[in-house]
Amino acid sequence: MLTSLVELAERLALRTSPQRAIELLGLIPTPALEAMRRARFRRTLRIAAERSSFYREEFRRRGIDVRRIDHPSQLGDFYTTGEDLRSHGADPFLVYRADTAFETTGTTSPVPKRVFFSRREITDLGRLSALWLHVLGLRPADRVVSAFDCSFWVSPYVLRSGLDLLGCFHVEAGKIDAAEFYDRAKEYRPTVIFGEPSWVVRLSEIAKVRGPWRLKFLFAGGENISESARRSVEETWGAPLYLNYGQTESLGALGAECRIKNGYHRNDLYFFFEVPVADADGYGEVVYTTLSYRVMPLIRYRSSDLTRLVDDQCECGISTGRLAKIRGRCDEMVVCGMGNVGPWVFDEVLRGITCLGGDWQVVIGHDGSRDGVVLHVEMEDESGQRAVETLILTNLRERFGDFWRNLEMHLYELRVMVHPVGSLRGHGRKLRRVVDERQMSTHPSVLPL
Ligand SMILES: [Zn+2]
Repeated sequence: MLTSLVELAERLALRTSPQRAIELLGLIPTPALEAMRRARFRRTLRIAAERSSFYREEFRRRGIDVRRIDHPSQLGDFYTTGEDLRSHGADPFLVYRADTAFETTGTTSPVPKRVFFSRREITDLGRLSALWLHVLGLRPADRVVSAFDCSFWVSPYVLRSGLDLLGCFHVEAGKIDAAEFYDRAKEYRPTVIFGEPSWVVRLSEIAKVRGPWRLKFLFAGGENISESARRSVEETWGAPLYLNYGQTESLGALGAECRIKNGYHRNDLYFFFEVPVADADGYGEVVYTTLSYRVMPLIRYRSSDLTRLVDDQCECGISTGRLAKIRGRCDEMVVCGMGNVGPWVFDEVLRGITCLGGDWQVVIGHDGSRDGVVLHVEMEDESGQRAVETLILTNLRERFGDFWRNLEMHLYELRVMVHPVGSLRGHGRKLRRVVDERQMSTHPSVLPL
C-alpha cells in the first residue's frame, strides 16, 4: 500500500515541471523510497523468473526460490554477465514485447551485445534525464547541438526524449568530424553541446585555435575522461563539462554528475547498485539490477566498471548516493612488473602534461626477461618526445613511489612512443586503454566467475 502510494507520487512528480518534480521527489522520505525500491526489485525478480527463459532456467538450476528473495545480495554468487548476453542472444532475456533495440561492443569483443527496450521506457528515462539537465541549468531558452553517435547507440534517443520535455531548441549533428561540427554548429548559436568525451576534447582543441563561443555547459557520456583533459576543455570554453555514467545495457542513465563533479549521482529510482567484492578502499566491480524495465530486465548485471558506492551527502545538497569516478574496466586491470595497474594510473601519470593530445594507450608485453610497458601518447609536435619522456618519469617518481622503485629495480621497462593526434583511436568509438599482450593477466578486485 505504502509502495503504491510512493509510486503514484513518483509518477505524478515526474509528470509536472522539472522544478516541481525535484521538489516533490525531495519530499518522499528515504525509508519510503527504500521500501519502493525493494518492492520493485521483488517485482522484477518475479517477472524475470516467470517470463524470461534465461532467468527461469538459471534460478531452477541453482535452486533459487525468488519468493524468498528480498535483496540482490541474497542471490549469492548469481550474476548476469555481458558474456551471457553475447552467447545466449537477447531472446531468452525478453519478458515483454520490445519496440526498439540498441547495441554495444565494448572493448573486449567484436561481437555486439543487443539490448531491447520499449519506447515507453525511453520516454520514462527521458523524464529523469530532463530533470537532471534542469538541475544542471538547462532551460527552454537554451539551444542544444548534439554530436552523439546515432548508430545503434542509445544516448541520442534518451537525450531527444528529455529535450522534447524541456522544450528547448535542438539540432542533431550526429558524430561528425569535430572541425566540420565547429563550422556547422556555430551557425545555430548553441549554448549546450553533447558528445562523447574524446570527441569533446577534439572539438575543444579546434575551438582553442579558432575561437570558442559562449556556452552554458558541455555534457559528455559514453566513456571516461581524465581530469586534465576535462580541465583543458573547461578552460577553452570557460564553461563546465559534466559527465554521464551509463551503459547501453541500462539504457544509459545509471548516474550523472552535478555541478560539484565529484562522482555520479546514482539513479536509485531505476537501479539497485552493489559492489559485492571490494578492496580495502571500497573499490570493486559495480553490479546493478534494473528496477523498472519490463522488456528486458537484468538481474545483478556485472558492469565491468571499477568504482565504489559513496553515500555521504554531496556538497550540492541532492541527497541521492553517488558512484565514485570510474577507475577503469575490470578487464583492463593488469598485474605486471610495474605493479597492479589500470587506466587511472596512467591518467594520473599524464596529468598536467599540456603538450599531449587527448588519447593514450598502454601496451604491456614481455621481452623474455621482464615486462615492458609501452605508453603510446599523441601530440602535435612529435619532436617533443624527449621532453615528454622526462615529464612522464618525473610524474611517475612523484606520484607513484612504488611503481618508480620497481622501475629502478628493473622489474619492468618503460618506453614512451609519440604518435600524431587522432591516430590511436582510428575509427572505433571506444579505445581500450590498457592492453595486456602477455595473455596472462589477473584481475584483482574482480568477482569470481
Ligand atoms: Zn552533487
